[in-house]
Amino acid sequence: MTFGSNLNLNTDRPTFVTHLECSMTGERYEADRLHGLSRVGRPLLVRYDLEAVRANLPRPMLAARPTDLWRWRELLPVRRTENIVSLGEIETPLIPLSRSAGGDTVLVKDEGRLPTGSFKARGLVMAVAMAKELGVRTIAMPTNGNAGAALAAYASRVGIETIVFCPEDTPEVNVREIALQGARVYRVNGLIDDCGAIVGKGAAEGRWFDLSTLKEPYRIEGKKTMGLELAAQLGWTLPDAIFYPTGGGTGLIGMWKAFDEMEALGWIGSERPRMYAVQASGCAPIVRAFEEGVEHAERWEDAHTVAAGIRVPRAVGDFLILRAVRASGGKALGVGDPAILKAVDDCARQDGLLLCPEGGATLAAYREALRTGEVDAEEKVVLFNCATGLKYPMPEAPNWLDRHQPIDFDAL
Ligand SMILES: *Cc1c(COP(=O)(O)O)cnc(C)c1O
Repeated sequence: MTFGSNLNLNTDRPTFVTHLECSMTGERYEADRLHGLSRVGRPLLVRYDLEAVRANLPRPMLAARPTDLWRWRELLPVRRTENIVSLGEIETPLIPLSRSAGGDTVLVKDEGRLPTGSFKARGLVMAVAMAKELGVRTIAMPTNGNAGAALAAYASRVGIETIVFCPEDTPEVNVREIALQGARVYRVNGLIDDCGAIVGKGAAEGRWFDLSTLKEPYRIEGKKTMGLELAAQLGWTLPDAIFYPTGGGTGLIGMWKAFDEMEALGWIGSERPRMYAVQASGCAPIVRAFEEGVEHAERWEDAHTVAAGIRVPRAVGDFLILRAVRASGGKALGVGDPAILKAVDDCARQDGLLLCPEGGATLAAYREALRTGEVDAEEKVVLFNCATGLKYPMPEAPNWLDRHQPIDFDAL
């Protein structure tokens, strides 16, 4: 880490965490200690001395740094540089979808280019660095695939033992990736919250630290870098609308937090994008709660969708997702699997960009929102493609040619 790295890992910089805070009650918790959920069973949020950050991190200074995730160091929780772990968390590009979305105003933030091929790397790189800083030796986690892969990669790199539980129909490629990257991985006959219950039980017995989505405070901090990056990439403005594929909602909650922090730093104004939480109609607890006008989402029974990353029947941060969506003037939108697959197909064929199904869900939701007048064609929109399309099943390509027979070139 000391020679030849072009990442922001070399300089010791001050960090500015003051405390942690219960997202529900506002109760304060001490920083620099191992925490799970708050006393009322809700996520903890990391708070910073933003006045001090403002004094120490003028925007031009940021602009001079390499653009990876660690450029935001002053707004991240890791205290000691030696605890930083990295596999090259680059700033992900914004790709215009000129044909499949019907306009140049739609950008895809392509998170599939991150280590382990998904934006789970942002959350897990932070959670693992903090686990290292706080002396954790063993971690367990439930996963639909990508989170487990990112955890396994980073934890193996710093020598933390990992045990991962995934639903039995998790794609083979994810399970093998997790195993190869050094975790002990188990398929479980149930959904992700059933896997979460096993992790919770083992954690209560003191066997491991529970790194489930939002059950430790630092994945949000990693995920919030999506919001920071977006503002920097768009010249310190934000788009009119963001379509985010919502499972546990870490990214949506994180970006919303990042916007507030940037406003406090004087980096952006008070305008916010409309946040659209996109779910699959076969697993849409947040959409249902949004439409019913309630603050918490009930568990979604018999969850099913091709978009496994958003097949999350129950989210511990439900009220944070719903609050951000409502405060932004956005909505929670459900899209069916056929529309998701069609969006993936069109985007690949027309724009040359291979989305994951969850990314396809955001394009499908955008198209529907355009049709209903929820968004205008001129509005600047960002869709999140959260993982590389290469990890997912693709349609067959059955053409075959016998080179020993005469070739009908006209028919090719
Ligand atoms: C985890 C995941 C999501 C959901 O992200 P959250 O921020 O937890 O809501 C969406 N898509 C993919 C591919 C994922 O791996």
